[in-house]
Amino acid sequence: MAVRDDELPYLRRCVELAAEALDAGDEPFGSVLVSGDGTVLAEDHNRVASGDRTRHPEFELARWAAAHLTPGERAAATVYTSGEHCPMCAAAHAWVGLGRIVYVASSEQLTSWLAELGVAAPPVRPLPVSAIAPGVTVDGPVPELTDAIAALHRRFHRGRD
Ligand SMILES: [Zn+2]
Repeated sequence: MAVRDDELPYLRRCVELAAEALDAGDEPFGSVLVSGDGTVLAEDHNRVASGDRTRHPEFELARWAAAHLTPGERAAATVYTSGEHCPMCAAAHAWVGLGRIVYVASSEQLTSWLAELGVAAPPVRPLPVSAIAPGVTVDGPVPELTDAIAALHRRFHRGRD
């Protein structure tokens, strides 16, 4: 499945949420949970600056979905996100039974950007979602928005664009 033009507003919102996270002193990641009929159900951005490194937006949305949606509603929903789910969030997504994932930037792209910035490797291997949750449909990257995400990560790690 390809990313449709009418999905770009959800992805632009993910970029906005990532920028909000950055403005709040957090790593720039943002995600939006959208129902099968296109309604935005929930959104969040990274909150690891709290000291809890599991506070990724995709994990929060999976928990929100488990608490508020039926299994059928979860399967029909899509999670749009600024960066491809990490293994922890991909696992949560799959355990909760959520549907498709659409990401702006891949984990591979993020890994190369962070390496260029001299950021130490994370404690969790940056595997693609397909390696963790093979039953989940995944689309991305979205080239028209990846530069904006790369710029946010440069700002977070270097303090400038
Ligand atoms: Zn994650």
